[in-house]
Amino acid sequence: MTSRPDEAGLNRPSPVKANASGRKAQSGIRVPDIHDLAKRLRFAPQQGRIWLDDQRMMLMHVSSLGALRQELIESLGTETARGLITRIGYHAGARDAEMTKKLRAASNIYDNFMAGPQLVSLEGVVHCEPIALDIDVGCGRYFGDFHLVDCFEAEAHMASYGVGNEAVCWMLVGYACGYTSTFMGRPILWREFECRSMGHEKCRVVGKPVEEWDDAEDDLRFLQIGDFVKWTIEPKAPLPATARLATKNPVTPDNSFGMVGISSGFNTVCHMVKKAAPTEATVLFLGESGVGKEIFSHNLHRLSKRGDGQFVAVNCASIPEHLMESELFGVEKGGYTGATTSRPGRFERAHGGTLFLDEIATLSYTAQGKLLRALQQGEIERVGDTRVRKVDVRVIAATNINLREAVKDGTFREDLFFRLNVFPIKVPPLRERRDDIPLMMNWFLQHFSKKHGKVITGFRERAVDAMINYHWPGNVRELENMIERAVILADDGGALDLAHVFTGDEEMDLSSFFLKKGGSIGRAIQRASTAPASGMPSLVETEAQMLRTALGEAKGNVSLAARLLGITRPKLAYRLRKHAIPLE
Ligand SMILES: [Zn+2]
Repeated sequence: MTSRPDEAGLNRPSPVKANASGRKAQSGIRVPDIHDLAKRLRFAPQQGRIWLDDQRMMLMHVSSLGALRQELIESLGTETARGLITRIGYHAGARDAEMTKKLRAASNIYDNFMAGPQLVSLEGVVHCEPIALDIDVGCGRYFGDFHLVDCFEAEAHMASYGVGNEAVCWMLVGYACGYTSTFMGRPILWREFECRSMGHEKCRVVGKPVEEWDDAEDDLRFLQIGDFVKWTIEPKAPLPATARLATKNPVTPDNSFGMVGISSGFNTVCHMVKKAAPTEATVLFLGESGVGKEIFSHNLHRLSKRGDGQFVAVNCASIPEHLMESELFGVEKGGYTGATTSRPGRFERAHGGTLFLDEIATLSYTAQGKLLRALQQGEIERVGDTRVRKVDVRVIAATNINLREAVKDGTFREDLFFRLNVFPIKVPPLRERRDDIPLMMNWFLQHFSKKHGKVITGFRERAVDAMINYHWPGNVRELENMIERAVILADDGGALDLAHVFTGDEEMDLSSFFLKKGGSIGRAIQRASTAPASGMPSLVETEAQMLRTALGEAKGNVSLAARLLGITRPKLAYRLRKHAIPLE
């Protein structure tokens, strides 16, 4: 926190032109009328509720919050207190960004963005005055410079500690990070350069993409959970903002273990993983398909004393039932018809390391019994063998079904359930940890751009909106697949648009809501493939894209590509020429 605002490139001219309606800030940046937002604030004292749009709010005394803040600092230390307070702010900012994407969906991007600074005014937190603002979501460009007038946080802090030499508006900085990152679909970091608590008349904050800051890690650690999750900052390198699970040696760039998140749900899982890792406890990961149970398991293994040993993963559902036992426990020559040689099973291969059993509920009853014995006595028996072999294996299991129910139904052994359920960790679905979405979008974008050798500038605004509002039934895996497909579909040097990301098979609602003049709610439906809204890819572009995709799918075989498209080969050849698409 040493550089001055001017060194941070604050004196850039703002591209925002003043407009007729609304209010102009001193900088000339138009601040839209706040009426549309103020109307969403409703008091329902009979029910003990205050609503801001669909979010329940609460009035709280600034002095109580100040007392809480002081107690956090005194009991946990400044570092930890700052981290907690920053993350509370981040969460609030992310919620408000989701709200403004609905409420001002029909506005231009600057008015849409300014809803955030206006909402914090409405919420009584602070009054924001824009000094400079430059936004281009598709190009991933963001620069914001704001004065914060009468910030409650500086006031509360000064009431306890007086004037000092550190900026203290942590919650506000967290809010700005959460709001802007969710708005942009990529991590934007804010820093406070001037603060009332340092004797300045107003506070001043500046926000830019994470990779444009020097020493961003200083600030990012407050958004994370201690040193457990580490962001690797490599400007221009393909792996910005990678949060990883790590302990003493946090940075060995290896994105296959990438783990990124900021939500309380994510942080809770990280906490549990960190607790369980150094022990020998059997861990059971619970959660829907695609939430990342295997990645968490892998990281648990890496953090454990067995980190140097093997991590052997088995998806129990993907192995035919009659082969399951020999797969897990190995087979002795002649153990069954066709077993011509002896070979070790996954248990033996994981000796000294960790065995990850995914979809454990699909194991047969016999295999469950053998697994129980391996867990209890550290012994296994190969199929067709009478010899007992000692194995030293830590088991991590995962399931997306309710094992208690399976026990009741008689499909899962109760004794095994109790043996596995020593340390259960529930990984919440992505829709319950939406704060993680922008970070993941960015992470997968960087990862797949590198993998497929493409330069992609970012996500177009409506793609960000749709991804933030989508309910993600397939969780992180769906997000990952979606972004990989989009990176493949998109043109080199361009941004990922709605049509690249959502191709139509998703159970999604792409409608955005906006407030009509009369005060009623309007609904703008954008269909990924058909809507001719301005900025959508034209029919010609869409067709060219389909042709390229089919050609790619068919590995350049024109006849096959034609069959995939359901047209004749000459017709496809004609169209390829028309679009000037070269044949490989
Ligand atoms: Zn301040």
